[in-house]
Amino acid sequence: MHTVLILGAGFGGLELAASLSESVPDEVRVTLVDQADGFVFGFSKIDVLFRGRSVDEVRIPYADLDRPGVEFRRETVTSIEPRTRRVVTDRSEYQPDTLVVALGAEYDPGATPGFVEDGHEYYSVAGAGRLRDRLRSFTGGTILIGVLSVPFKCPPAPYEGALMLHDELVRRGLRDATDLRVISPMPSPIPVSESTSAALVQALTDRGIGYTPGSRVRALDPATHTALNRTGDLRYDLFIGIPRHTVPRVVAESGLTEGGADGWIHVDPATLATPYPGVYAVGDCADAPVPRAGVFAENAARTVAANIVAALHGGPPPDRYRGQGSCYIEFGDGLVGKVDADFLSGPAPVAPLYGPSAELAREKEQFAIDRRKRWFGP
Ligand SMILES: Cc1cc2nc3c(=O)[nH]c(=O)nc-3n(C[C@H](O)[C@H](O)[C@H](O)COP(=O)(O)OP(=O)(O)OC[C@H]3O[C@@H](n4cnc5c(N)ncnc54)[C@H](O)[C@@H]3O)c2cc1C
Repeated sequence: MHTVLILGAGFGGLELAASLSESVPDEVRVTLVDQADGFVFGFSKIDVLFRGRSVDEVRIPYADLDRPGVEFRRETVTSIEPRTRRVVTDRSEYQPDTLVVALGAEYDPGATPGFVEDGHEYYSVAGAGRLRDRLRSFTGGTILIGVLSVPFKCPPAPYEGALMLHDELVRRGLRDATDLRVISPMPSPIPVSESTSAALVQALTDRGIGYTPGSRVRALDPATHTALNRTGDLRYDLFIGIPRHTVPRVVAESGLTEGGADGWIHVDPATLATPYPGVYAVGDCADAPVPRAGVFAENAARTVAANIVAALHGGPPPDRYRGQGSCYIEFGDGLVGKVDADFLSGPAPVAPLYGPSAELAREKEQFAIDRRKRWFGP
């Protein structure tokens, strides 16, 4: 039996475990490790914030995971030694034939002075719950949504948040009393997709939501509720930020980020292999030149599964990683758009937009149902 240890049971880790279970259940023994007790889709945070879903309703317990050849263990990874593939957790030690790091990205809210004291976020489940509670007592004023650092998960998510927040404020009769604005250091919402950027900017404009591209909030002053910005300071009543993202501490301490772009794990973009034999990295923690999003982590996991199977069976190397994925975007009013992105097949990324439509909103729901079935079993 070839042993595969997958660190992190998120989008990437779950897809890799499912792919190996499907293709080589009798040849590979997969151990899947995560410190959490359940998986939460990134987009479920929007449901917690705006659709009245509780944290328990959106969490899929790992105890439900039932895939042949896959064992889930709830443990916290405390050390990774890539040269020897030795991994230590709070409960055990491992030395697998193949090690796959799929530990995602963590947030560093302290990187923006004043943000911990006076800001809110909806990028963590707990943060989305706190912001939902804060919005209940909001009675009007200025709301700023600021992207504090790039890269960050799901590039459309700040705009989804603004459009959904607009709907919520309209529903509660507070929209006329609220000035809503998005500020981002990026030149447009989705630079690789002109059609998506244009549609998002139009949607913001139609709803009277301000948009300041090319501008970064570098600090908050909690005493005066002011966002400090090189092009002019802005007063706010509620500041919602997309915090700086980093690799988890255990990854930074492992040496895996050496040579990686901007502190992420260095991988060969064709195979997701790290420079260490038998060690791969997929998803948000890796420096593959794609956005941080679940669909790309999933696509990367399939490439790694194909590489593991090819190494077991011999034969020609599998198709290279293409950085493909369909991202759904909430436009408000119950409408969802879809960007079919392909980052690495051609000389430049292509990412056309479809919709938004009610039909794509149903397709997004089905996307989540299909993943749950595939990753957790019937
Ligand atoms: C608001 C929001 C909306 C989003 N919407 C979308 C969307 O519509 N489509 C899309 O594709 N993506 C979306 N995303 C992005 C998506 O959630 C992530 O990009 C995706 O989850 C990355 O997958 P991953 O496998 O790399 O990491 P993750 O899914 O984050 O998994 C990493 C896992 O590692 C575990 N872990 C970390 N450290 C340790 C440790 N020391 N020991 C043990 N376990 C550990 C964590 O518990 C976690 O389960 C959204 C994100 C947000 C925040």
